[in-house]
Amino acid sequence: MDNTPFLSARFDKFIARLPAPYRYGRAPYLVFFVSIIIALLVLDMLITPYPNTVGVTFALALLLAFFFFLVYWGVPLAPIIHMGTAASAAMLCYVAWHAGGVFFPRLAWLMILPLTPFYVISRGAGYFWLCVVWLLQLGMAAANYWGWLPPFHHELHHATSTWVTISAVTGTLIIVPMIYDRLHEQAVQKGMRYQRELELKRQELEQILQMREHFIATISHELRTPMNAILGFNDLLMARVQDKPEALKVLNHTRQSADHLMTVINDILDYSQLQAGQLVVHSETFELRKITGYAFELFRPKVKSMAVDYKIELDEALPKWVHTDRHRLMQVLVNLLGNALKFTHQGEVVLRVQWENPGVLFSVTDTGIGIAPERRDQIFKRFSQADIGIHSRYGGNGLGLAISQKLAHLLGGDIGFESELGQGSRFWFRLPLQAAEAPQHTPDAQSPALQTGDQVWRFLIVDDHPINRLLVKKVLQNGWPQCEILEAAEGQQALQMLRDTPVDLVLMDMVMPVMDGIAATRCLRETFAATVKDLPVLGLTANVNPVDLEVFRQAGLSDLMLKPFEPAQLCAKVEQCLLTAKKSSQGS
Ligand code: ADP
Repeated sequence: MDNTPFLSARFDKFIARLPAPYRYGRAPYLVFFVSIIIALLVLDMLITPYPNTVGVTFALALLLAFFFFLVYWGVPLAPIIHMGTAASAAMLCYVAWHAGGVFFPRLAWLMILPLTPFYVISRGAGYFWLCVVWLLQLGMAAANYWGWLPPFHHELHHATSTWVTISAVTGTLIIVPMIYDRLHEQAVQKGMRYQRELELKRQELEQILQMREHFIATISHELRTPMNAILGFNDLLMARVQDKPEALKVLNHTRQSADHLMTVINDILDYSQLQAGQLVVHSETFELRKITGYAFELFRPKVKSMAVDYKIELDEALPKWVHTDRHRLMQVLVNLLGNALKFTHQGEVVLRVQWENPGVLFSVTDTGIGIAPERRDQIFKRFSQADIGIHSRYGGNGLGLAISQKLAHLLGGDIGFESELGQGSRFWFRLPLQAAEAPQHTPDAQSPALQTGDQVWRFLIVDDHPINRLLVKKVLQNGWPQCEILEAAEGQQALQMLRDTPVDLVLMDMVMPVMDGIAATRCLRETFAATVKDLPVLGLTANVNPVDLEVFRQAGLSDLMLKPFEPAQLCAKVEQCLLTAKKSSQGS
């Protein structure tokens, strides 16, 4: 249905009530105009003082009524309108000719004739009929002046002024809708221009978001890759200098600084991903006490040099196994404990974990500097610290609590705090945890004892960074002293090696030149012979983008490990892959 803006609700109702053939396109306008004209013609027949014009008026009314049938039969509107306008003009001129010419009051009807073609057919048709009407009015005025029509003997100025008046009114009648039409078109064009601009802005924004995601992924990879080497080699060195306290102290400093840098990198990346809604929960079943204990113990070395009583209180009623994202839970705990220790110079810091049946309440209470009431609203906002002096005295980026809050919500829980300036604070978060079934097998990433340690394995390390290959090699040689190690700098080279030499496990980096780890793993799984294609492939990557990681997993990884990793964790994963592969080969 034609819903031009000037249509009133009433006109819409009128259209809705019309029979189907009159309801669409411009037909309703025709019906509207013609109905009014027929009604006026009938009225005119009843009240006209010129009986000799009744026959013509009646003929015109019949002709117009006949147009309804033409529309019903599907004749196009344009010829019908032209015919109707021509017939009306002829009838009006005929009547005027017999009743005073240009002075005949009903000649005024001639003025509105161009309106129907203007609205129903096109603007051009309207202007055409406007010219015709002007000519007819001029002709009628001339006929009056030359005395062909009654009343005879007119002065030139009588005929001219009457003609000018009705011509001007006719022009005005058509100019008004023309101006309206033009304004309407301008408004529509303006609207369309805004819409185009808006669309461009939207596309620009989308592009910026994509660039941002790409930037974060690249930065993540570029920052984590060297951190992997720094932390990994540091750990290897620490294991070697256990008997040299001075060297150990220096390496501890390096480790702490590197850990700090890792926290900052992770905070920024996490926050960006949380903002983009990309962070997903990886739930698993784990021992609640153990994970809470790990988070608590992480700060033990730091607390040794502090005058702070560092305590943990675990509710007896806590369930042994729970099911949620272990890493994210650790992250929130570590952040709250880290803050409490950072802002407490004396007194105590206590981690309490209480069973609320259902749900678990974690709280970290400290006797530190506290937070002023007017700053409490700001604390969970990103890049927000309690006051300007905090940064210069304690450092920090103001992201930790913003991330913790988002993570707590992501895990289905809530977070909050109470604090008194100079007295201390209590930060808490509540998770809707329930007692879970114990898992079938519980790989222990921290366990250093390797069942497969005394066997001869052949590993293939695929990574474009020689330092990373060296680190993985050292870690593997520590865990499996008799192992043989092959190295490839990219996917194609690795696939060639796998064709030539039997291997027990592949450690595959994700981002590499020539052929990346995703394509190489897919190729191995899809095109290699049965004995080789089921090889365990452990993905290693510094990319933390969940979408990329999922693509890597889908390519056919046996397991995935994020860089930087603890040497013990890498060994545990490798062993797990080896044992699973062994079991499945025995089974088949
Ligand atoms: P950061 O610690 O890196 O500055 P956070 O988001 O973790 O960032 O904390 C934001 C601010 O909240 C801190 O700068 C500090 O002012 C305040 N704050 C957080 N925890 C405590 C606490 N336990 N005691 C006092 N102030 C705290």
